[in-house]
Amino acid sequence: MNLDFDRGHIWHPYTSMHDPLPVYPVKRASGVRIELEDGRQLIDGMSSWWAAIHGYNNPVLNEAVTCQLEKMSHVMFGGFTHEPAIQLAEKLVQMTPDALQKVFFSDSGSVAVEVAVKMALQYQQAAGHPEKHRLLSLRSGYHGDTFAAMSVCDPVTGMHSLFSKVLPQQIFAKAPRCGFHDSCSDDCIGDFRRQLEEHHQEIAAVILEPVVQGAGGMRFYSPDYLRKARELCDCYGVLLIFDEIATGFGRTGKMFALEHAGVVPDILCLGKALTGGYMSLAVTLTTGKVASVISEAEPGVFMHGPTFMANPLACSVAVASIDLLTGVDWRKSVLDIEKELFSGLEPCRSFRGVVDVRVLGAIGVVELERPVDMALVQKLFVEKGVWVRPFGKLVYLMPPYIIAREELGILTGAVCDVAGSIAERDF
Ligand SMILES: *Cc1c(COP(=O)(O)O)cnc(C)c1O
Repeated sequence: MNLDFDRGHIWHPYTSMHDPLPVYPVKRASGVRIELEDGRQLIDGMSSWWAAIHGYNNPVLNEAVTCQLEKMSHVMFGGFTHEPAIQLAEKLVQMTPDALQKVFFSDSGSVAVEVAVKMALQYQQAAGHPEKHRLLSLRSGYHGDTFAAMSVCDPVTGMHSLFSKVLPQQIFAKAPRCGFHDSCSDDCIGDFRRQLEEHHQEIAAVILEPVVQGAGGMRFYSPDYLRKARELCDCYGVLLIFDEIATGFGRTGKMFALEHAGVVPDILCLGKALTGGYMSLAVTLTTGKVASVISEAEPGVFMHGPTFMANPLACSVAVASIDLLTGVDWRKSVLDIEKELFSGLEPCRSFRGVVDVRVLGAIGVVELERPVDMALVQKLFVEKGVWVRPFGKLVYLMPPYIIAREELGILTGAVCDVAGSIAERDF
């Protein structure tokens, strides 16, 4: 493998081309193990960014892809339809709240967010409110890297300063302060309420990640916040978009995080674990009402249509992944992981330099006082035989649901060791 070529020519996520951080060449992956070119085996603590919930090289998912491959890998979705798309849409409509009836397929999470934003804007225009053209979002949120998505990410960690001249200027409310188990006080939702009171005439929709703010800080907050947010949106004629690209398909202990609150959004974005981490696919669901308002006014159509829309390979593997998930007691798997993460990460709480340890479902987070030295920490983890990739001050685990207890113990042990050694080095 020509690693020099990689280093010289290939951009990796969020990296410089000038002296980039090292990358580890992967040969294959199976179950929860990732095998490097040199034969070392790493236990996966990341599920390849929330996606590989069933682990790698799963025979059932492989079969779904190969079976579909023999029929067709792709046909355009304009003027055609196919069984994998219909089956997947049926499943999604059935699994999500009753009000969500209309399905728009796209090829990545960021695009699903762009689509959600366009739906909200087209809806308000069609409903006779063209002045409602802005989004209200939460600080510490993350919604993707394309322009509309970036505009609703946290203004600081979302790097708005780099693109300030071209980014649409959105409105931000303070991040929720209520803990997952707390109720949300009037004070906690106060800033959100104020922003709506002040700007509702120009706000088309609120977008937020329900219960777990992921890449913007791995923060958990009260479902109660969502109930209050829903009421306020209704009160001001503002649509509510839930971005469950990270939280969907069981990660928080519910199939969708919105179930913690019993709140139904007007628009829902799903991605990441949708295909069990096999392929890039995302979806934006909406209500009959939003769809018909858009469809009744000029131009009478929803203006989006990606080349690889509803790719049959991706839809087939998504159908198989959902069947695999719902065919087992996934709630118990996630709950077991939650318990292990609680007990396994608890020792970190007493380390100097550790600010917080928090766990929800199959997500375990150790928050440090200062950002980690990524190259160094990554190397320490690999030497311990695990794949854990921190960002900033956050060292976190999101293992595949199929992980065994002993393997999870190795992951939490490695996080404790590394967090401990960071504390020693810094103080
Ligand atoms: C990852 C993520 C996205 C973006 O998805 P991509 O597939 O990377 O474009 C959007 N929203 C949330 C909450 C995410 O976690």
